[in-house]
Amino acid sequence: RSVNTSDLSVQRTNDDAQVSKLSCVDKGYFRDDFLKYFVRRASRRSPLINRGYFSRVLALRQILQEFHAHLTSQGVSTVQILSLGAGFDTSFFNLQAPGPNGVRWFEVDFAEVTKRKAAIIAGNEPLRKLLGPAESQSIQLDEGRITAEAYNLLPGDLRDTRACQAALEAAGFDPACPTYVLAECVLVYMEPEDSASVVRWLGHWLPTAAFVVYEQIKPNDAFGKQMISNLEARGCPLKGIAVTSDLAAHIRRFTGNGWQRADAKDMSTIYRLHLDPAEKKRAEQLEIFDEFEEWHMIQDHYCLVLGVNGGGDKLTGFGLKQQKQ
Ligand code: SAM
Repeated sequence: RSVNTSDLSVQRTNDDAQVSKLSCVDKGYFRDDFLKYFVRRASRRSPLINRGYFSRVLALRQILQEFHAHLTSQGVSTVQILSLGAGFDTSFFNLQAPGPNGVRWFEVDFAEVTKRKAAIIAGNEPLRKLLGPAESQSIQLDEGRITAEAYNLLPGDLRDTRACQAALEAAGFDPACPTYVLAECVLVYMEPEDSASVVRWLGHWLPTAAFVVYEQIKPNDAFGKQMISNLEARGCPLKGIAVTSDLAAHIRRFTGNGWQRADAKDMSTIYRLHLDPAEKKRAEQLEIFDEFEEWHMIQDHYCLVLGVNGGGDKLTGFGLKQQKQ
């Protein structure tokens, strides 16, 4: 399948996401010692954008940590992470920095993106040294592929699930190992039948897995229409949003495609009830903020969805948990 202009535009959304995340790091919203290597030109974002990315990053960090902690408490010593459309996401490096943790990390993105990411990793010692023992590392810059003990970066088009599965198997991905799948602002950019086939492929392949989706919803009200036309103007249509337009549709995409259970919340709810209150309090004091109406609108138009295949009872009790506020 050839890469078209719409593919190129969606690849650029990756750069945009990392610039916004770095803006948060620079303001102190969260720590990330590795993002700076992946951003060519840093730019300061508005308090509104910063707070949105803070909420996104904290929510995703929390649920990944809960998944890991849940399985560790079940005596599981190795878990896999599969990040779809990972872009220049730095979660692997942040998680790996304190030391080995029994996590095997796999990322898939278009070759155009993984080639750039592989070159950045190869060219920066603080990143390269976290991949695992030097003798386990294979970095193929021309293909945009890295395989190493702890980290695997694989070029692939998610519209071709067979090729993605073959690439994962060749890199040593083990479908029997408990796996956390992440699709952060990815599936919504795909045609609905293509994203459904990704969900179905993994639902049938992975018996013990959690699949977390973070993306836009609610295309039909005034704010949703504006959000969509802003992205369309930048060449990045949200091709999937008409189908996964609300939380119920997101849940159905999982339960109708091989996943045993699913849950979904909008980000207003996640922010209010699920995020660590101490972290929120700290973040809310970082910048003067008065755009409350717009903030609530934005949060209402993003969601966090969790699909689970329980693997017997290994993931019993794992879900989107509220925290005492
Ligand atoms: N997940 C990262 C994050 O949130 O920081 C990057 C998100 S960026 C908005 C969307 C990413 O999905 C881009 O890196 C893009 O190349 C990737 N992507 C979109 N469609 C894809 C496809 N069919 N196959 C592989 N990657 C895809």
